[in-house]
Amino acid sequence: MATIGFIGLGNMGAPMAANLLKAGHQVIGYDLVASARAALEERGGRAATSAAEAAAAGEIVITMLPAGPQVREVYLGPDGIIARAKPDALLIDCSTIDVETARAVAANAGESQLLMLDAPVSGGVIGAEAGTLTFMVGGEAAAYARAEPILQAMGRTIVHAGPAGNGQSAKICNNMILGASMIAVCEGFVLAERLGLSVQTLFDICSKSTSQCWAMTGYCPAPGPVPAAPSNRGYAPGFTAANMLKDLRLAQQAAGTTATATPLGAAAANLYQMFVDGGAGGLDFSGIMRFINLQESNR
Ligand code: NAD
Repeated sequence: MATIGFIGLGNMGAPMAANLLKAGHQVIGYDLVASARAALEERGGRAATSAAEAAAAGEIVITMLPAGPQVREVYLGPDGIIARAKPDALLIDCSTIDVETARAVAANAGESQLLMLDAPVSGGVIGAEAGTLTFMVGGEAAAYARAEPILQAMGRTIVHAGPAGNGQSAKICNNMILGASMIAVCEGFVLAERLGLSVQTLFDICSKSTSQCWAMTGYCPAPGPVPAAPSNRGYAPGFTAANMLKDLRLAQQAAGTTATATPLGAAAANLYQMFVDGGAGGLDFSGIMRFINLQESNR
């Protein structure tokens, strides 16, 4: 069993750390928020007094932080993970961040002879709690082989996507497809209702037809057909619209740096921007159903 430093014990990090503890690993965790540190201790972990202390304690160091700037700070700062980690430590960043930052931080770790992986996840808080996350991993094969049994304690599907940054590339492509498909499903259900078709009837047909997709059958944004979906509890998250907007912006940034045309990805980013600007950033991302429902064509 491993000794693991875990930095970032928020909505995702806390249940991920809890699953490491359940699997018998030792977890020394740190978060800026005192209640998050206390919750780790309640679940059998040890709270560190700083990120540096958690980093120095682990043969493996995992981070689950909000975005690129926090990852840069926590890894590259003078008292950061790269400065403080044990010489043979393996570093795994599970946050969703931009590809450039992921590659820059991994290169910096490499200069200090530290192995590092980017390993963002799909599956949300429910998947983090159940230990069924999908991990998409970028980095060297040797680092991946060492990480795999650790990641298995938190996830069900672990995929090596290639060199550093490729995990983040997979994640933002996944979420760009998801954001666009969620909006498409919302538009279909709004149009159907205005044509006099019930939500359940459209669902029964489309869930067995060519428009079938996870946004519809796993997470239907129209209340009714999928009982566990956030649409049946006032769009309480789940995965917030603000986080979806963050990931769509990351995808647009990557499209820009690679001169890739992503017109639907761009439209999805614009629509989520309007939705979030209207004060709905804390709602589940499927709540964009409400926004689509309010729109009327000018024609
Ligand atoms: P969160 O805001 O709940 O957790 C982030 C935690 O990091 C917070 O507790 C915060 O206090 C802590 N933190 C920030 N800066 C820190 C620092 N310098 N030192 C120590 N701790 C620090 O966010 P989350 O929902 O857990 O998401 C984490 C990452 O996972 C994000 O990149 C997000 O995009 C990604 N993600 C989230 C979901 C989801 O459904 N919530 C799903 C997949 C991926």
